[in-house]
Amino acid sequence: MGAEVFFCARVLGPTDRWFDGGGLEVSRGRIVRVLTSKAAARRACRTATRAHDLGEAWLVPGLVDAHAHLELTALSGVMGPGVPFGEWVRTVIARRAALSAHELDAAVRAGARRLLETGTTTVGDIDTCGASARTLASTPLRHVLFRETLDAWDPRRTAGALAALRRALPPRARRREGLSPHAPFTVSRALLSGVAALAKRRRAHVAVHWSETENELAWLEHGAGPLAPLLGSSPRRRGLELLDEAGLLGPGLSLVHGNHPHADEPRLLAERGVSVVHCPGCHAWFGRARFPFAAYEKRGVRIALGTDSLASNSELDMRGELARFADSGFGVPPARIFRMATLDAAAALGLGGEVGELAPGRAADFVAFAPGARVRPFEHLVRARPRIFGVWIAGRRVVAPSEARVNDPCT
Ligand SMILES: [Zn+2]
Repeated sequence: MGAEVFFCARVLGPTDRWFDGGGLEVSRGRIVRVLTSKAAARRACRTATRAHDLGEAWLVPGLVDAHAHLELTALSGVMGPGVPFGEWVRTVIARRAALSAHELDAAVRAGARRLLETGTTTVGDIDTCGASARTLASTPLRHVLFRETLDAWDPRRTAGALAALRRALPPRARRREGLSPHAPFTVSRALLSGVAALAKRRRAHVAVHWSETENELAWLEHGAGPLAPLLGSSPRRRGLELLDEAGLLGPGLSLVHGNHPHADEPRLLAERGVSVVHCPGCHAWFGRARFPFAAYEKRGVRIALGTDSLASNSELDMRGELARFADSGFGVPPARIFRMATLDAAAALGLGGEVGELAPGRAADFVAFAPGARVRPFEHLVRARPRIFGVWIAGRRVVAPSEARVNDPCT
């Protein structure tokens, strides 16, 4: 079977290089070649089975959302921004428990659709109650499914939580598996080491909510704060120490939030290749203090962006996360910000080398964006929430181009 050729006004090649009048050659769901000129595109056309002229569109890699809870799409609008975190957690647990399996599945489908329509082609999704495991595979959205577990440091719950996690994993891995021990303050040492052993055996990527609020640090490290009456005896250890003791600190780990790192922790994370996932919309929604980007940046920690959920964000749209991060005043160049939602987010999900850039051998996951008036293309992509002409995953169109011309450019 021959290749298909996608023509456009501009294409973003590997290592952040733009090519005018280029495109992509795609075969069997993968990128075969990045076409770097009109002449190269015309040549590729001669042997192509089909050619698609995307007109003035800019082709870029599909966005990668490094952290979401698609099942919580069902809780959209239930709470408003600024609700106290404790009240938020109680409401989410109660409202989610009241939903039927059918409603949860519908929420996952609706969330996946929102991400696709706004240019996201891969998501790292936390699955708390099985809805994403039942549903996501029937959507075109590429995903790493993180099965969540916790025992609230209650030893009576540990064995059951681990057994449920083992049962939830399919017998043989067809795609990259993910596990999510919820957070150091909700997962005991015993459960954490059980998850670590399982992750090693199944080569699963691990995502953990870490250092989101000062209350969790107060209980973990000092047995103090509002969580103390709920959680009982404290380990009097830092969350990162507990994760390290379990053998989890490595490139297969993503830490979500990371709002309150101790001064020496970014260096440790950089040394071990751990990623941190920042969710700008959720951060603003809770009115958190400024994200400590500079502390991570100084040590070279990989930062990826995510949406989190519609229970704590007004939208599931990675274009919005890019714009919010750009407006946060960290002084990060737009090309680098775009990378946090593509290459770096892919690496944070264990999908480095598979998605996140347009390069030969990568999955043919790409988005055709409306061209921008801004002179600098990355600034347009990051700040302007560009309109989408179409979205493709593994070379298959999953969101129809609304304005692109689709005809045969060979004639
Ligand atoms: Zn989360």
